[in-house]
Amino acid sequence: MAEKRDYYEVLGVSKNASDSELKSAYRKLAKKYHPDTNPGDKEAEAKFKEASEAYAVLSDADKRRQYDQFGHAAFDGGAGGAGGFDFGGMDMGDIFGDIFGDFFGGGRSRRSNDGPMKGQNIRKAVRITFKEACFGVDKELNVTLKEECEACHGSGAKKGTTPETCKKCGGKGQVVFTQQSLFGVVRNVQTCPDCHGTGKMIKERCPDCHGTGYISKMKNIAVSIPAGIDNGQCVRIRDKGEPGVNGGPRGDLLVEVVVGNDPIFRRQDMDIYSTVSITFAQAALGGDIRVGTIDGEVIYTVAAGTQTDTRVRLRGKGVPSLRNKQVRGDHYVTLVVQVPTKMTKLQKELLMQFDEAMYGNSEDKEEDVSEDGAKGKKRGFKRRK
Ligand SMILES: [Zn+2]
Ligand SMILES: [Zn+2]
Repeated sequence: MAEKRDYYEVLGVSKNASDSELKSAYRKLAKKYHPDTNPGDKEAEAKFKEASEAYAVLSDADKRRQYDQFGHAAFDGGAGGAGGFDFGGMDMGDIFGDIFGDFFGGGRSRRSNDGPMKGQNIRKAVRITFKEACFGVDKELNVTLKEECEACHGSGAKKGTTPETCKKCGGKGQVVFTQQSLFGVVRNVQTCPDCHGTGKMIKERCPDCHGTGYISKMKNIAVSIPAGIDNGQCVRIRDKGEPGVNGGPRGDLLVEVVVGNDPIFRRQDMDIYSTVSITFAQAALGGDIRVGTIDGEVIYTVAAGTQTDTRVRLRGKGVPSLRNKQVRGDHYVTLVVQVPTKMTKLQKELLMQFDEAMYGNSEDKEEDVSEDGAKGKKRGFKRRK
């Protein structure tokens, strides 16, 4: 058997490498040589094994101290100098959870089940109108919530009986099993299959809750939706989710807001956009028009000579800020000049007269007078007096 390489050399770190340096060095090697990414490659397998062994030792403060003092001899254990490393004493599951948790999907949750855990969140959607989103609204939601069963006080056991400690796991909720793998014996921790992690076995189930310990009840929950909320945002209502485990707090209720379209207003963040039609006369002469805003109608004075698609800003008429409803966005109104499509004979005649007066298409008796009093030409602009 070849001489064993120094563990620090294997990982490519210095003797005084920190834990995080060790970890990142091992992570790199493990990723590179992992058997899953190198199927059938014996050399990669050996490298992976070597790096895993080095990391297993150096990441353990006690073992590292021993190794620093005695080198590989520290672990030979006098077993005929076989040089095999005994993984039996360590929990590879821990190392793997730590190292591979993130890049192998982290599918298996290694969190033990004996501590209090917060319950799951419940998600619900609520439809509101455009204006409700702008100004806030109170809604009521029907949500099915699990409540502790009154008959068994959440134990799930029939009245007069108590749940027994699970024999398989001794109440721990987890079982440990060992497995032969390419780097020796690996210990794995799994949720107990008998009690599903609760550590308790129910002999006689509570008839009210069928042993679950919970009764589902429809609850009416008031939701206060704040002014300024936008489509897709959530309102969190604490403690209205699924019950916690082992005395942990309840999860939350997340109410997602679905804002309906408005026939007039469109929204972009805190600003509102709309379109208002004005007549040609209003555009040319100017004047007051009514403009719909989320606060109701306001009077806006159109300037004389306004072109179509002119956008004007109504300051502070937009959507309130979620954080401070005194702060509001703006409302942009696009003024669209309407061209008449159906006209009476009289209207047409008047319009032609107007056109003639404006641009003149025949010998015109009228003469334009420009500001300096000089006589203008026929095609010059005629000024209103
Ligand atoms: Zn019950
Ligand atoms: Zn069990």
